[in-house]
Amino acid sequence: MQGNLNVQTENIFPVIKKFLYSDHEIFLRELISNAIDATQKIKALASRGEFKGELGDLTVEVKIEKKKLIISDRGIGMTQDEIDKYINQIAFSGANDFLDKYKDVQENLIGHFGLGFYSAFMVADKVEIVTKSYKDAPAVHWSCDGSPEFEMKEDKRKERGTDIILHIADDCKEFLEERRILELLKKYCRFMPVAIRFGEESKWEDSETEFDEVDDGNGGKTKRPKRIEKKVPRIINDTDPAWRKKPSDLTDEDYKKFYHELYPMNFEDPLFQIHLNVDYPFNLTGILYFPKVRKTIDPNRNKIQLYCNQVFVTDSVEGVVPEYLMLLHGVLDSPDIPLNVSRSYLQSDSNVKKIAQHISKKVADKLEEMSKQKVELKDADGNDVADAPTQLEEKWDDIKIFVEYGMLTEEKFCERAMNFTLLKNTEGKYFKLDDYRDKIKALQTDKDKNVIYLYATDADEQHAYIAKVKEKGYDVLMMDSVLNSHFINLLEQKIEKTRFVRVDADTVEKLIAHDDAIPEKLSQEEKDKLKPIIENEVDKARFTVLLESMESDDQPMVITQNEFMRRYKEMSQTSGGGMGFYGEMPDSYNLVVNINHPLIAQILNENDADMQKKLVHQLTDLALLSNGLLKGEALTQFIKRSVDIIK
Ligand code: ADP
Repeated sequence: MQGNLNVQTENIFPVIKKFLYSDHEIFLRELISNAIDATQKIKALASRGEFKGELGDLTVEVKIEKKKLIISDRGIGMTQDEIDKYINQIAFSGANDFLDKYKDVQENLIGHFGLGFYSAFMVADKVEIVTKSYKDAPAVHWSCDGSPEFEMKEDKRKERGTDIILHIADDCKEFLEERRILELLKKYCRFMPVAIRFGEESKWEDSETEFDEVDDGNGGKTKRPKRIEKKVPRIINDTDPAWRKKPSDLTDEDYKKFYHELYPMNFEDPLFQIHLNVDYPFNLTGILYFPKVRKTIDPNRNKIQLYCNQVFVTDSVEGVVPEYLMLLHGVLDSPDIPLNVSRSYLQSDSNVKKIAQHISKKVADKLEEMSKQKVELKDADGNDVADAPTQLEEKWDDIKIFVEYGMLTEEKFCERAMNFTLLKNTEGKYFKLDDYRDKIKALQTDKDKNVIYLYATDADEQHAYIAKVKEKGYDVLMMDSVLNSHFINLLEQKIEKTRFVRVDADTVEKLIAHDDAIPEKLSQEEKDKLKPIIENEVDKARFTVLLESMESDDQPMVITQNEFMRRYKEMSQTSGGGMGFYGEMPDSYNLVVNINHPLIAQILNENDADMQKKLVHQLTDLALLSNGLLKGEALTQFIKRSVDIIK
């Protein structure tokens, strides 16, 4: 029998081929998915008793033979009528629908659209189907050379199942290379639910009959079984991957093992994982792993993989996974994610939205649970350690970036996380938000009833400032993440009557302003005289001189940097735009002069102009030094001057 395919566009194949050029490797996924479906169907029929024959070896096989690539299954097969219906009519009309639908978005096509059987023509200039149905009907041989005409005749095949034979086109010869096919099978079919065989692989075994003579280490000889190479069928997939199993059937070790199966090139264990298992109102299974986030993140490695019933679809999960979780690893499997659409459509799909929300909720659940559970620690006598950290505290440094980013980008997650997110102080202790407020409230509430959270971003650089505020009995938080300035802003919005101030933002008296001002030792007249003396010696573009009344045993001069200027500048640098004005501003500092310090009085009363200058220089340099700002030539001169003074 000969016929015309139900295709309106004469030259549909070249068009398809051109469209999908970048992605035409997916033909293999499509054809193997069909083979697997057909196999699953015969299994289902057998288990319902509707098919009573032998199932036989159901392994799907992929073979390269000269210029042909062959995909064989022992599934339900097709009768002539079925080929007519499913291949001649439906499959090809699907092609037309497809072209109609995507006429305007050709450039945006990213693949992943369940192209079905006819995707074979992306790589083959002729395709044959040899198939025998499980029903009592003659086998069929169908062939088509890419024109809208096909040929269909009876075949002698006796065995149930289907061979799809692709005559690979000259410009697609890569699909005749074993390495390339293996790569594709590993990419798309690694977890498909029916075993897939591709060629053979070597297995080394001890021979039972042949032996080698080797040195026994004591000057004698001994016999050792010969290692012999055995060729065994190469099965490329794990048909029962961990995410399909029940969480209660899996141990932590199983999860780790699966992680390394997913990412064979990653040798580090994940921190912990979340097993997703939903069947209503949408279907979703998967395992998400929290990795250690490194300072330099390569977003192209170890990405989350998206599957549809164990068929790999993509590892671009934008839209499906909330953005802050994009750095997680693992797999998601859902038949409810529309695969044949563009990314922007995906993001507006209601199922996809629900899935993203569900994932976010599960992550919050898990973190909250970890914040309640202590790490099991035993002391030397085998007793539980009472003040063991919580599981969340133990992992916090590695995962806080996820939590902070999530809080910044997802309102709902933020609400949840307010209950478990942690702050860490310079002593390395962790606190929940409420607990921390309770801890510092008494000493760190200022005269306007704001609770002032003091923080440092670098324990070494800000050491002098940290020490100073600790003398007052204040606590200092360690806030050193890249999202800091944004995160601090968020907390200030979320927690009423709260201000965060970095330890070097002001003098210790002003960081947390109480009512009791320190009496000034200089008159207004003296202050007016002092100010220009100091201003003349500093770079006015960078430093604003401020005269302040501090304790007389405090430092004579201190460098501070306004909290908001600094924070906005940092924020604009990490958010790229919007606040450009701040980002381009030079760093500016305050040079705070302690007018109660005896050395300042000495400067004021010094009659020798040279000596006066020297003193000012020396004190400003000391202030700069303590802030890590004294560098280069200025540092060299400081050292020289200091030696002169000691001499
Ligand atoms: P889809 O798989 O999305 O339905 P396809 O174009 O891939 O679309 O296939 C069309 C139909 O042809 C399938 O639904 C199935 O009924 C039939 N078919 C394709 N390949 C096979 C196969 N290897 N064995 C049995 N039937 C098949």
